[in-house]
Amino acid sequence: MKLLYSNIGDVYVVRSMNLVILFQDDFISDCQVRLTGRRLEHIRNIYRAKVGDTLRVGLLNEMMGHGIITDSDEHEIEMEVVLDQPPPHKLPLTLIVALPRPKVLNRVIASATSLGVARIVLFNAWKVEKSYWKSPRLDEANLLHQRILGLEQASDTVLPDLQLARFFTPFLQNQLPRLVSQSICLVAHPNAIKPCPTDLQEPCTLVLGPEGGFIPDEISALEKIGFLTVSLGSRILRTETALPALVGRLYSG
Ligand code: SAH
Repeated sequence: MKLLYSNIGDVYVVRSMNLVILFQDDFISDCQVRLTGRRLEHIRNIYRAKVGDTLRVGLLNEMMGHGIITDSDEHEIEMEVVLDQPPPHKLPLTLIVALPRPKVLNRVIASATSLGVARIVLFNAWKVEKSYWKSPRLDEANLLHQRILGLEQASDTVLPDLQLARFFTPFLQNQLPRLVSQSICLVAHPNAIKPCPTDLQEPCTLVLGPEGGFIPDEISALEKIGFLTVSLGSRILRTETALPALVGRLYSG
């Protein structure tokens, strides 16, 4: 996992790392880590951190805490870490989003992760361009990297689950009915009459459509299994704008 992450990570420099995500492979003793690649560059060039400085760190899918830099040069950095805080709670929210165009995909995955979405499903709607499914951005390494960026941004360590539902009908028939029995199930649709609910306390499953919107058959298939169609108002928003607006409204508390 670390290898995949580092390979991708070295390509991009990201300027919002509020927590340094650590991997098991980074540990050179019980409480010492050695970092290279993207995280080294970020710590040296963006944080401008030096020996003796303290950074927020967290072990992927585990506890968070702080790290004190004990050694640093242009090839690697060493820190002594204390992991003594639990990560923040996730929202009890499953986000089912029609596969966006590749350029938007990264932003949607990273921001859903930052918002605390527990589970993300990318599904195929009628108006999703078939070529999107061939994008290298759907590679496991990139999908992991985007979630890591979201965790670093929000100071969280726990990866949201991520699933690809390439075929809508079996997904609708085999997986969605189970979610309907366990959560409030909503489809976000600009034309809906009902407003999106606010201040939910319970789990929710939220479906977002593709750029071209849902076709009527998709809306009625979802309604038939118990989804409620809701709107944020008549303004038609991009997926990446609708997503934080919906999440902020559903779990405003
Ligand atoms: N032309 C499309 C717009 C799609 S926008 C249409 O008219 O449906 C992409 C997705 O963002 C939509 O399918 C919906 O899930 C969500 N969305 C955008 N604006 C919204 C709004 N005002 N209310 C609820 N959902 C919205």
